[in-house]
Amino acid sequence: MNASPTIASTAVARVILKPRKALPFYGRHPWVLASAIDRVEPIGIHGEHQLDIDGQVVELLNDKKRFIAYGLYNSKSRIAVRLCSWSVDEPIDEAFFRRRLEAAIALRQQIGYEPAQGADKSESATRLVFSEADGVSGLVVDRYGDYLVVQPTALGIAQRLESIVPILQDLVQPRGIILKFDKAMAKLEGMNNNSQQLETETPQKSTQPSATAPFTDGHIWGELPDGPITIRENGLAFEVDLRVGQKTGLYLDQRENRLAAAHYLSGRRVLDMFCYTGGFALTAAKLGNASSVLAVDGSKTAIAHGQRNAELNGIQSVQYECADGFKFLDQLAERGEKFGAVILDPPKFARGRGGANQALMAYHRLNRIAVSLLEPGGILISCSCTGGVSREDFLLMLSGVAQKSSRDMRILQTRGPAPDHPISATCLETEYLKCAICEIR
Ligand code: SAH
Repeated sequence: MNASPTIASTAVARVILKPRKALPFYGRHPWVLASAIDRVEPIGIHGEHQLDIDGQVVELLNDKKRFIAYGLYNSKSRIAVRLCSWSVDEPIDEAFFRRRLEAAIALRQQIGYEPAQGADKSESATRLVFSEADGVSGLVVDRYGDYLVVQPTALGIAQRLESIVPILQDLVQPRGIILKFDKAMAKLEGMNNNSQQLETETPQKSTQPSATAPFTDGHIWGELPDGPITIRENGLAFEVDLRVGQKTGLYLDQRENRLAAAHYLSGRRVLDMFCYTGGFALTAAKLGNASSVLAVDGSKTAIAHGQRNAELNGIQSVQYECADGFKFLDQLAERGEKFGAVILDPPKFARGRGGANQALMAYHRLNRIAVSLLEPGGILISCSCTGGVSREDFLLMLSGVAQKSSRDMRILQTRGPAPDHPISATCLETEYLKCAICEIR
């Protein structure tokens, strides 16, 4: 993948919609799918030279050629244009990114997730920028202690890291910035992410982001931590290895849900399925006074990390198992095991609306087994992070599980992600995380 030669803030092409396709974009939905586009007309010099315009700024016009919005183009992505500015006077330049990032960080400061400049940040973590929900489709930034992890999920953003990184340096003053691609997303965006592993040695402290950095995972600015760092969540310590962890390091979106779940678990034998490094399990044991927790994940690295987290917090009541979640649940059911609570937090089952039905079938199957493992009066904590599955679909799935199981199910709480993961009202796909706390009679 070659980065486009110049990253201009002025539009290099006009993207003209097919008739009757403009409504969602007047309504500020940020994703223009290729199927809505009639043609792309290069502007000025770009037309003559047939430049690669992937990642560049384009104007979105209706079929009568009236301006709707500016966005970043990518012919290789299902989302051909990611819209970010609906004002003809607001180009997508450095000042634009600075305004959006400032506003995103201000929200986290307002809710107390981001300490003020100069305060100790070394043991807290927060999502500082959440893509569409912060008006920058394709950019995720998480802060872990004194470090930032930047995750571009759009080509146009990856190409602009040289402008975005200095803004983050200025606004957050981290010790270092690490770049991490979501491999599946990078592929969907045609970003050739060829990195196998991050650098493990602390490289020379650099002051400039590297020009070749955008498509390779790794350290892009400042210092890299020598080893794992420790983050405190709800008073519990979690080691995070920013160089190897899943996602950007921890699943920060579940922080409040772990605490909420813990309130229902006192004295219970708990099964934490898809436990990663033990977020729910350790909170259940320490804050929830669960009598014991069996925590299961398919990743050996995650399990090893979970065991270290248990030691770090002096917790002996959590037992970890590395296994395939689906098979493990079947085996528990065959053995007739019973639990006082089951937590299900599986990985995403589909991307986009396309796989929603299949995802719902997978949720149905998992939840059905989980219910069969519960004693009367047991607690089911069921989560879904599949964006294509709506909250309503998810609740209907749970209702279907209750009906098929012939058990009374009461939904005690329906929850969403932590408040540093806001939801864009004009892009409801950003409401991806559902968490239901249920009682099964
Ligand atoms: N509950 C966790 C987050 C879970 S994310 C927390 O609170 O931090 C989903 C987890 O599912 C990941 O850790 C991943 O390793 C695991 N996973 C994915 N596919 C799996 C499978 N087939 N069997 C078991 N675990 C799986």
